[in-house]
Amino acid sequence: MSKLNPVTQHKEFFGVPGALGIATFLPFILVFFYAVCNEQYSIKGILLDLNKVIEQIPQNWAEWKDLCFDSTVWTAYLTWFFVLAVLDVYSPGKDMDGIELRDGTHLPYRINGVFMSGTLIVLLLARLFASPDYSLPELQFLYDNQAKLIFVTIIYSFIVSFFVYFISFIPLRGKNGLGTKERILSINGNSGNPIYDWFIGRELNPRIGAWDIKLFCELRPGMLLLFLINLSCIHNQYHKFGKISNSLVLINFLEAFYIFDGVLNEEGCLTMMDIATDGFGFMLAFGDLAWLPWSYSLQCRYLSLEGNAVDLTPIQIGSILALSFFGYYIFHSANQQKSDFKQGKLNHMKSISTPTGSKLLVDGWWKLSQHINYFGDWLIGWSWCLPTGTQTPFTYFYVVYFATLLVHRQTRDEAKCRAKYGKAWEEYEKQVPYKIVPYVW
Ligand code: NDP
Repeated sequence: MSKLNPVTQHKEFFGVPGALGIATFLPFILVFFYAVCNEQYSIKGILLDLNKVIEQIPQNWAEWKDLCFDSTVWTAYLTWFFVLAVLDVYSPGKDMDGIELRDGTHLPYRINGVFMSGTLIVLLLARLFASPDYSLPELQFLYDNQAKLIFVTIIYSFIVSFFVYFISFIPLRGKNGLGTKERILSINGNSGNPIYDWFIGRELNPRIGAWDIKLFCELRPGMLLLFLINLSCIHNQYHKFGKISNSLVLINFLEAFYIFDGVLNEEGCLTMMDIATDGFGFMLAFGDLAWLPWSYSLQCRYLSLEGNAVDLTPIQIGSILALSFFGYYIFHSANQQKSDFKQGKLNHMKSISTPTGSKLLVDGWWKLSQHINYFGDWLIGWSWCLPTGTQTPFTYFYVVYFATLLVHRQTRDEAKCRAKYGKAWEEYEKQVPYKIVPYVW
């Protein structure tokens, strides 16, 4: 056993059965979402018309083939993915080091999200204003091919996850842009069970040369696709129905704000759990490439359908904006406070010393709950759902799913911190008893 890469003892998600279950169930959910939210059928209330769902299931292999392997759709998606990848490698940006790895090295990263997303927006605007009727065939193509693209992104995330699993066994030759001579495996993804390791992510930072596949997938093809899917809903509504509902514009604005805020604060991602401790396997590949764009866009996709438009009153818009920016304020200032504290800028604040030398902040935002930043993030999520009104609870899926994700994330982070900080963590829990929501839980 390598000292650098200890064998994983504890398997999350109930091990192999959980991994297989999630890898089957989550893609199914995305397809199900489409089946209940498209031009043939969109759910109203809570009751599902099962016949209308069944009618949409392909009847034979030719129909399945058309749905999953349409060459135009695959070409469009692969062009999107690889143009972004090339831009990611060659765009100008700030070069910086990631956190210290287990072998004492740091990986280099290129922070160029502002340039890349700026380029995308300039291209979109140029195309839009060059078009006499503000029509963009690319956006309409995206809107019209949702079902096929959902399958393409699902299949592609399987391909990416197999690829990174297999390259994790190839020994490194020289430094190879990684700064280390041995591949660093994830603490959680080196169980030796191929199914579990493939699912959870075997290698911590799979790279081709210096190009980091995980950071790229986390921030580019899925996030920017979400932005485009949401825009395509506005595009479709405008060109099909001749008007755009304010609820659709509001969700577009709020989600775009979140996406571009993430881009502006890209450096912060280098210390996030996904980048710092999680391996890159099916869970993240699928989450980044398929789940995020298709499940987060559900509300816009729903509102863009005939008969589903919601017109909000100015008071409703104002309240939703206020909720969003309140959540945003908590999320942003809490993350900033922790980051400043870790950089030694807030030494006057109350904290607990730990045996590792680093301190746990128990002051400011961080005395309210152990993950006050998650609470802010969750409030933002509500503002993405509320504009859909009361037509169906289905458009509130995001807040339910996100609560589950955050609770699970909190549990994993707690296990990590308990192991890392020992008694100091127990003291921390006494001083900050609430996990996420102050005075509730
Ligand atoms: P955190 O930013 O909360 O980081 C947790 C880590 O911070 C801990 O492991 C510990 O690391 C350190 N820490 C925790 N409490 C303290 C404290 N009181 N004082 C000092 N250090 C502390 O978690 P994440 O990385 O999970 O999330 C980052 C952000 O990303 C969050 O705001 C979250 O809401 C957001 N997010 C959004 C998602 C989305 O899909 N929209 C998905 C996931 C996350 P250490 O070892 O350094 O001490």
